[in-house]
Amino acid sequence: MSKNYVTGFPRIGEQRELKKVLESFWAKKVPFNEVETIAKNLRQRHWEYQRNAGIDYISSNDFSLYDTMLDTSIMLNAIPKRFRDLTDETLYFTMARGDKTRIAMEMTKWFNTNYHYIVPELSLEDHYKANASKIINEYMEAKKLGIKTKINLIGPLTFLGLSKRIDGKDPYEFLGRVLPIYEEVLSRIGTLDDIITVQIDEPIFVKDLEPKVKSLIKPTYDRLSTTASNVKLIVTSYFEHANEATKILVNTPIWGLGLDFVYGEENLEVLDFIAKSGKHLIAGVVDGRNIWKNDFQKTLNLLDKISQTLGKENLIISTSCSLLHVPFSITLEKHMKEEIKNWLSFAVEKLDEITIISRLFFEEHHKHDKNLHDALRENTQANLNRRSSKRIHDDLVLQKIKNLQKFQRDGQFEERIKIQRKTLGYSDLTTTTIGSFPQTGEIRTARSQYKKNLISKKDYESCMKHYIDECIAFQEEIDLDVLVHGEPERNDMVEYFGEQLKGYGFTQNGWVQSYGSRCVKPPFIYGDISRPKPMTVEWITYAQSKTNKIIKGMLTGPVTILNWSFVRDDKPRHIVAQEIAVAISEEVDDLQNAGIKIIQIDEAAFKEGYPLRTDKIKEYEKWAVANFKLCASTARKETQIHTHMCYSEFNDIIKTIEAMDADVITIETARSGNELLKIFKKVGYKQEIGPGVYDIHSPRVPSVEEIVKQINRLLEVLPKEQLWINPDCGLKTRGWSEVKQSLENMVKAVKLVKSSL
Ligand code: GLN
Ligand code: ZN
Repeated sequence: MSKNYVTGFPRIGEQRELKKVLESFWAKKVPFNEVETIAKNLRQRHWEYQRNAGIDYISSNDFSLYDTMLDTSIMLNAIPKRFRDLTDETLYFTMARGDKTRIAMEMTKWFNTNYHYIVPELSLEDHYKANASKIINEYMEAKKLGIKTKINLIGPLTFLGLSKRIDGKDPYEFLGRVLPIYEEVLSRIGTLDDIITVQIDEPIFVKDLEPKVKSLIKPTYDRLSTTASNVKLIVTSYFEHANEATKILVNTPIWGLGLDFVYGEENLEVLDFIAKSGKHLIAGVVDGRNIWKNDFQKTLNLLDKISQTLGKENLIISTSCSLLHVPFSITLEKHMKEEIKNWLSFAVEKLDEITIISRLFFEEHHKHDKNLHDALRENTQANLNRRSSKRIHDDLVLQKIKNLQKFQRDGQFEERIKIQRKTLGYSDLTTTTIGSFPQTGEIRTARSQYKKNLISKKDYESCMKHYIDECIAFQEEIDLDVLVHGEPERNDMVEYFGEQLKGYGFTQNGWVQSYGSRCVKPPFIYGDISRPKPMTVEWITYAQSKTNKIIKGMLTGPVTILNWSFVRDDKPRHIVAQEIAVAISEEVDDLQNAGIKIIQIDEAAFKEGYPLRTDKIKEYEKWAVANFKLCASTARKETQIHTHMCYSEFNDIIKTIEAMDADVITIETARSGNELLKIFKKVGYKQEIGPGVYDIHSPRVPSVEEIVKQINRLLEVLPKEQLWINPDCGLKTRGWSEVKQSLENMVKAVKLVKSSL
């Protein structure tokens, strides 16, 4: 009996082998067959890890050289016109990355994770046809190793739901065109073996489904599950519940349903539909996207609850989603404290959790198996140790939260801005930047050498100060109004604060794929958060001491800190956010007391944090706004609070943004003229706004005329009194020469516009 299951496995490699070989290939240092060799090796190793752990359902086609959505475009031959003269790997990588003459396909976030997929680009003139070679090759590769895999595919409704059509029309209209291709792929899969399992990922089912999309589920799965009689289909969703879709899918001939019981507890509500239908349930009970050790006893209780309705016969134990979202293995952490290590579980460790849980659950006589018995005992102990550890509990933090008196700053915006305009003495169309300046090799080296104790604190600091000096001299030279220190001491806007907050942990090798060959190493929050000492004051006041102009202090807000970290699972997110907010509010107070007059609290990831289900949005907005206001609660009326967000679509969240009550918000708009700004006017938004006047995502230097035009376009929508002038986002990924010319042009442009007003 096959009783356990893994939705998908990471592919980047335990030492990021895939990243390394891809980047060498792109740099033309190795030929493509080197990539293929490494990829094949990785697949083999990953399958063997799973087999050795005792996993029954192991995936193929969860591997990808760049992204599985891109693989699906290739499977369907959905190739945008500009790439059609290319073939093979050149075609594939050019679609993902572009080249001198071809713009890359768009990339965006995969649901509410930090993984990014390549957005399919569809057109009426596409010619879809089946390309199943990758799927077949990987299946056969595993078969040769004696491993019979289930085949992972991204389902047609999710594929279309995440696509864009170049004519802007509804991609779901293409269902009739892509379904025959899926059928053909499934028929070919059917020829590979006598019986074969296919996991079709339909995570789109966890969003609120429009009636039209809902109506497509049954016909689609009626058709796909009768394509090849020896192919068993499992339709899998994750990150939330999929109740609407489940109620429909049980009336199609699919073999099973994969549901997430970690992030979609509501899935329990439709168990009786599944039970009555006789479908198999692949129950995601081991968290596939967080790093905490499973609590076996708790999971066994959950499984008992599920089996009361469903029985055990049709139940299969699984991860809640693909393990793509967690690091490879905890055994690679050589520097982590043993105590903390014992609380964590990465991809490889989760495999064992799956098999142990399934044995504990299914094998009646497990009580006589000493190993199993020990595993349960050890797990219970580890969870107990974590819960009672001194490291995670901090009474002072709890006290502070309990005694909180002040949740927002004094004064209404209208009153504050009058005082600020007077004390800060700035005029309309004030120029500034978003915070970071180019990260040079020199400062990167200094930071990493300092971390490894290879240079002294003094040398490190003098290197940073030298950089700050240069940043300030440059900003003064071009006559920018509000200056920044440039963020040389920060590797990353979340990691920097994490490193200084109590309750935060770091990994040595905890890489997670972000997109293509790009990986991130998110820090993790394990304990109550507090700020032992000021985190930014020294750098900011140093910068302020070097100029008579105003220096804007630079902090990261709680939602962004949460979204880019692994967060403890034993406390609600909004409470963790509140602890972070208190720490930030203390920093705000220290900065203003040290003479800093403007403080920016970045909420780059504010929108990413939105729940997938609309009925949960209100609650999220409530605590996200409350915690931003808490950060600013210590600011005096004359201290100006800025925030920055890295996107431009504000239509649906404008009221929430307004409620955050920042004095100034800087946003991204350069790529869309003034269209996206209209909403601010429409709702009568009062606070000040700095819509980016040029795009920092490309090395192109915008001309003075171009920026003048852009500023004039902004002035068509909003009055000059309300506008700040700045680039789209931080400049850390750009080169100094572009940055210098671009900002110089920006300041010149503002002067021209002002003189004509
Ligand atoms: N202050 C940060 C910077 O300039 C903001 C980065 C961001 O918005 N992602 O780098
Ligand atoms: Zn940004």
